[in-house]
Amino acid sequence: MTAELKTMKREDVLRSGPYPMLIGGKEVPSISGKTFATFDPSNGRKLADVYEAGPEDVERAVAAAHGAFHGPWRGVLPRDRSRMLLELARLLESRVEALSWLECYDAGKPIAASRAWLAGAPSTLEYYAGILLGLAGETLEVSDRTLLDFTMREPLGVCGLIVPWNFPLSIALLKMAPALAAGNCVVVKPSEVTPLSTVELGSLIAEAGFPPGVVNIVNGPGDPVGMALVRDPRVAKVSFTGGTATGKTIFREAAATVKRLTLELGGKSASLVFADANLDKAVGVAYTDMVRNSGQVCGACTRLLLEESIADAFLEALEAKLRALRIGLPGDPATEMGPLVSPTQLARVGDYLRIGGDEGARVQSYSDLRARPELAEGCYMAPTLIHDATNAMRVAREEIFGPVLTVMRFKGEDEAVRIANDSRYGLAACAFTGDASRAMRLARALSAGTVCINTGVRSSVDAPFGGFRESGVGKERGREALLDDTQVKNVRFGLN
Ligand code: NAD
Repeated sequence: MTAELKTMKREDVLRSGPYPMLIGGKEVPSISGKTFATFDPSNGRKLADVYEAGPEDVERAVAAAHGAFHGPWRGVLPRDRSRMLLELARLLESRVEALSWLECYDAGKPIAASRAWLAGAPSTLEYYAGILLGLAGETLEVSDRTLLDFTMREPLGVCGLIVPWNFPLSIALLKMAPALAAGNCVVVKPSEVTPLSTVELGSLIAEAGFPPGVVNIVNGPGDPVGMALVRDPRVAKVSFTGGTATGKTIFREAAATVKRLTLELGGKSASLVFADANLDKAVGVAYTDMVRNSGQVCGACTRLLLEESIADAFLEALEAKLRALRIGLPGDPATEMGPLVSPTQLARVGDYLRIGGDEGARVQSYSDLRARPELAEGCYMAPTLIHDATNAMRVAREEIFGPVLTVMRFKGEDEAVRIANDSRYGLAACAFTGDASRAMRLARALSAGTVCINTGVRSSVDAPFGGFRESGVGKERGREALLDDTQVKNVRFGLN
């Protein structure tokens, strides 16, 4: 199957003119005509122009969503919402190959990985198309027998969906599908770094049967475009994925209109490897956490905690795998790791490697990119381990978001748990052990939104994902995301 897939060149998947916004069911330019450029991070060259929303465009998009919510969308039956989501899934499925190439060029994703990620994208829509049919309130046995009391689950209204660059289309869908399933209208703001695949998704919305205004897409920088959604009183909820600093700004600004929020923020998750673990498996997971999406994954376990007695053997095996890693151009099907997403991100990760060295850790890279002139213009970074770190160092406390793990050693379960939980983040944690009782103790003791035992941190649409502490508020995925996009109304009906 894979062997039949052909290379799609940039010109095969790119539009010729600037990428539009989607407002009120139509693809439109910005009112000002202003555009911004997106770049291919594998070579630094301009890829496409995109119309940049001004305040008047955001105003139009929110008005369209608001109008649709109070107009045609209100009367659409759950069954018909479900059918539209399924139709969108079908249309998306037929575009997965082209969209995989688009994200390969726009985000620098290796094509093999890009295909694998987007192959699962339609199932996000299918999952919510299914579970929305079970959305219901309940009848309550209240103490006053003169009342019949029941609850209704209602949509919130307009949801502003602010998406990051690391999994552009997948995260846009993870926000759109439950919001639409619950009966809301949406304004999506893709990352200005990787907007192209979401614009293409927008081109399928009308064909899937959604009335004009139910889905709108505006492009441009976080502030002012995303911030305009956060401040607009007609936007009932903001769902944001991105950095914790931005999340805090949004939290503060949303207070003015007491908005509902889902915040999927950063992580500094720990992976605990005990001497009794299946070490091959644990090494494989650490390796994947480093190289998958060039380490730009919020749930990656970027603090690697090794039990003292196996640490050297573990690192030897991991280092051997890293030396064999195939770094290359994203369009090459053999490439396992491509560039980082942008020069900004490359500089940011590079800063952390210097900080680690200044803090006294030993920073070791496992690929010599100077010997690869074909990668010289791109945002490439060698996989790097920060050895001999302590949990007090910035490289153990702050999110780096690149192909980098911070390595620490521990003696015994108590110390491992103490280090793992000593973080302002609490997105995920991972533990490898052959002892079932210890595994269950760790499942209880590790303080994180997702705890994975003897397997790497992976999220799927059918299980809730969302962090503790500064990793966020609310859950994405699973039934929880659907419920988070509704509000409960209590109806008390006098019987006498
Ligand atoms: P970011 O938080 O700046 O941006 C994410 C999204 O929010 C983008 O669409 C952006 O335009 C928008 N945004 C930015 N500022 C905003 C504001 N003031 N109001 C409203 N919207 C705003 O993230 P980034 O610049 O893309 O990356 C910065 C760091 O965030 C990364 O280095 C990484 O540590 C982290 N990050 C985390 C995740 C994650 O999944 N948890 C994803 C991407 C980035």
